[in-house]
Amino acid sequence: MALSQLELALRVALGLFVIVAPTLLFLALWRGLEAMRDDELIERAQQRAQRMEGSGSEWRLDATAVTAAVTGDDPVPEGTVACPSCGVRNRSDVTYCQQCLNKLGGG
Ligand SMILES: [Zn+2]
Repeated sequence: MALSQLELALRVALGLFVIVAPTLLFLALWRGLEAMRDDELIERAQQRAQRMEGSGSEWRLDATAVTAAVTGDDPVPEGTVACPSCGVRNRSDVTYCQQCLNKLGGG
C-alpha cells in the first residue's frame, strides 16, 4: 500500500534524523567553538605566562609558606597570639584561649 510505504519511509527518515542529528549538532558545536576560540586572548595569556616566568616569583608558591600551611606550623599571623599552654592562635584582644581556656599572657 502506498500510504504504509510512505509512512515507513517517513519513519526511516525520522530514525535517521534522530541518529544523525545529535552527531551533526555536536560537530557543528565543535566547529563553532573552534571558530570562536579567541586566538588573541590565548596569545595574550601565553605572553603573560612567559612574562611571569621571566620577571620573578610573585606568582610562585613560597615553599616555606606551603610547608607551613601543610604542617600547620605557620608563623604567627598579625593580630593573633599563641596560647602559651596549647599553642592555639587566638585573637590578641581576647583574654582566654578559645581551645583550653588558659589565660593568655597579654590579657
Ligand atoms: Zn590554649
